[in-house]
Amino acid sequence: MKPVSAIELFKATPGTNCKECGFPTCLAFATRVIVEKKPLESCPYLSEETRKALGKRIHRQQSDGVYVKRDLYKITADHIRERLAAHDFRAIAEGLGAQYVEEGGEPHLRLVYLNRECLLSRREIRIDGSPAEDHWDNILLYNYVHFSGSEPIHGEWIPIDNIPGHIPKKPELEHGCEQKIAAHFEGKPDRLERAGRALGAEKVEGASNADVSLSFLPLPKIPFFLLFWDAVPEEGFEARSKVLFDRSVTSYLDIESLVFLAEKFADALIGRDHKHGP
Ligand code: SF4
Repeated sequence: MKPVSAIELFKATPGTNCKECGFPTCLAFATRVIVEKKPLESCPYLSEETRKALGKRIHRQQSDGVYVKRDLYKITADHIRERLAAHDFRAIAEGLGAQYVEEGGEPHLRLVYLNRECLLSRREIRIDGSPAEDHWDNILLYNYVHFSGSEPIHGEWIPIDNIPGHIPKKPELEHGCEQKIAAHFEGKPDRLERAGRALGAEKVEGASNADVSLSFLPLPKIPFFLLFWDAVPEEGFEARSKVLFDRSVTSYLDIESLVFLAEKFADALIGRDHKHGP
């Protein structure tokens, strides 16, 4: 019996992204059903016939262990890549802060991603000359192109709380980025500045009471503002950090990709620090 792919299930949904199932999109619903065994019944808009036919096959493949979690990312990356067929790279390049180039007769976008050179086509993504093997890098970068944002950067910083859909994602931002930076750089604010500068970040003077304030462009049109307060043990304060986003961010990326970008940013900072040493 042929296994049901997330795309097959996605095509059976109405595709309206109404969120009644508890997921932000029909594709998210479909991938979670296939990969994480979420109940098919969560979508009230699947016909009884579809539910029965697909439900039987899904149950079978899950018992057989077909489709493991890593497939979720590949499926999603492939799906987003397919949607890029309709995008005119030349027309959207400027709005994305990218350069349009042609290589081997194929349209490409060249842009800077976490201080690395990224060359993106409809077929593949290369980062610093090597294929991007992490499916999440692919999802994030293809989403950035798919959104094709062109809104000007406002210069108004907002916390994640001001971004729609933030509730399930805020703990991920805190855990995967803010707390990680705070724990690693506690007692080492000068090293945070050094790691930030090595990644192309700029120090922002007088914008807050933080010990370190850095602005950084992990993607050309997505600025981050990183604030870091060092620990004050005698007053019982632990180190903490906060990442703010420009108000235009929602026109460039979905919140899931944005949080992943913030996690990659934290890893890049810590990686730079390890490279330089004390
Ligand atoms: S309830 Fe059904 S139609 Fe609505 S978002 Fe979920 S999968 Fe899509």
